[in-house]
Amino acid sequence: MAQVPKSVQNLIEAFERLPGIGPKTAQRLTYYLLHAPIEEAKILAEAALGMKEKTKICSICFNIGEEDLCQICSDINRDKEIIAVVENPLDVLAIEKADFKGLYHVLHGVISPLENIGPSEIHIKELLPRLKDGSVKEIILATNPTMEGEATAMYIQRLIAPLGVKVTRIARGLPVGSDLEYADKTTLSRALEGRKEY
Ligand SMILES: [Zn+2]
Repeated sequence: MAQVPKSVQNLIEAFERLPGIGPKTAQRLTYYLLHAPIEEAKILAEAALGMKEKTKICSICFNIGEEDLCQICSDINRDKEIIAVVENPLDVLAIEKADFKGLYHVLHGVISPLENIGPSEIHIKELLPRLKDGSVKEIILATNPTMEGEATAMYIQRLIAPLGVKVTRIARGLPVGSDLEYADKTTLSRALEGRKEY
C-alpha cells in the first residue's frame, strides 16, 4: 500500500480483523471516519468499549445480557416448558424474529473435530441441570443445518434421551449448509413449526 500514516493504517487493520470486512471495506470505513466529525469516532469507540464492559453471559442459558440473567430468562411471560438449543447468541435474535416464546440454551459453538472442538468445549453439559426438575417438556435442537450442526444435534439428542424429555429437530426448510442467522422470518417460522421428533 502507498504511504498511509501509521494511525490510519492501524484503524484499517483493526477493521480488517472484523468478520465480513475485507480490505476495501476497511479502507472505506476508515476514510469515512477520517472525514467525519470527531463525535462519530467517539460514538463508535465508546459504543464498542461500553458493550464489552456492560455485557455478561447469562448464567442459565449463556445468552448475552447485562445482568446475571438475560432478559429472556428473567421474563416471567416466557414459556418455560420449551428450550431451543442454538449455536450462537445471533441465532437467538433470528429465532426471536420467528415469534418463539420459549427459552434458549446457547452453546457458543458446535462440535467440530476438524477444529478440535469437542463437546466439553461448548456449553452442552450445562443443559442437563436445566432438565432435572421436570418442568421442561421439549428441547428443540436449532443448530444450523451444517455437518457440524447436525452432529452436535445428534450428540445432544443421545445425551438427553435417557431423561425422557421430548427432543425435536427444526425442519429442513432451511437450505442445507446455511446459517440460521441469515434465514428470513417466514423460513424460520416454518422450520420451527415443522420440527420433528428425533
Ligand atoms: Zn438467559
